[in-house]
Amino acid sequence: MFFLKIKKKFIKYVILLFLILLNLINYSYSKVTTEELNDIVNKLNYLYGTYITVQIYPTNLGAMATGQKIVFIDPSFVENESYEAIFGVLAHEWAHEVLNHIPQVFMYQWMSGMNTYATNVYNQQKELEADYYAGRALKMANLPLQPFLDLLIRFNSSMDFTHPYLRSHPSTPERINAATMGYNSI
Ligand SMILES: [Zn+2]
Repeated sequence: MFFLKIKKKFIKYVILLFLILLNLINYSYSKVTTEELNDIVNKLNYLYGTYITVQIYPTNLGAMATGQKIVFIDPSFVENESYEAIFGVLAHEWAHEVLNHIPQVFMYQWMSGMNTYATNVYNQQKELEADYYAGRALKMANLPLQPFLDLLIRFNSSMDFTHPYLRSHPSTPERINAATMGYNSI
């Protein structure tokens, strides 16, 4: 009985230690903490006058607006990108939501496994518009523009020829121009 008690306590401590370790690993691998991500979400909701939530969810687009006031962000972005870059990426997705860029059919198509890119849910004009607003939001939050541009250059260029959706995507210089125009508009 005595040993059983010790065993129970021991297991409890092992689990606790495991959870603490898991937290430490999360912190050391993630550039942006949960608090910082929440901070970005709150600031964007204030700037855009809306209420949108963010979900960490795998998407090969890096981040994705759903048209349902929910924005997905890929775990790799949270793990590797800076606060400023993520702010720009999410400000871009916030613009898609607020400007009603995503038709209501999008989530249905996406969930049923249809190729949402082939149906031209996204288009160049909308992308440039969202980039313009991302630049604007960064300026309004007193953040530098360059980290977002660096991410655009890296991400957009690497996907230019491989991703089906990005074939009809604006070129990287066009996107940089749109974001810079937005940044300088204030
Ligand atoms: Zn977009």
